[in-house]
Amino acid sequence: MTESPITARAFFERVRAGQLTALKCGSCGELAIPPRQLCPACHTQAWQPLDLRGEGTIASFTIIRVAPRAHAGDAPYALAVVKLREGVSILGRLVDIPLDKVGVGLPVRFRPLVIGNQATVGFGPSSAA
Ligand SMILES: [Zn+2]
Repeated sequence: MTESPITARAFFERVRAGQLTALKCGSCGELAIPPRQLCPACHTQAWQPLDLRGEGTIASFTIIRVAPRAHAGDAPYALAVVKLREGVSILGRLVDIPLDKVGVGLPVRFRPLVIGNQATVGFGPSSAA
């Protein structure tokens, strides 16, 4: 079995470094994040890394009022599915956006979050907002 050019581990290392990366299918052009084995559209494995600008808008969101124990001190916070400019969507945690301002269509910008020792995808206010 061949390895994808970006593993989940490498993906999160890039997140920690401040770069959001998608995989672009070299066969049909489909974008995927986070990494998966085969293209869900054409079922080939021809991934090439694509650096994303990290700008997008909220497609849907959930306010977490009762957090898992590890994040209990952080609640309430919002998790959002963000549709990026490049057309792919990713789940991330919203930071520095008042919860009453969170809404579908709100422009946001990627920022790396490190919680505990774990790099994770976050989104803050868009610089344009
Ligand atoms: Zn494809």
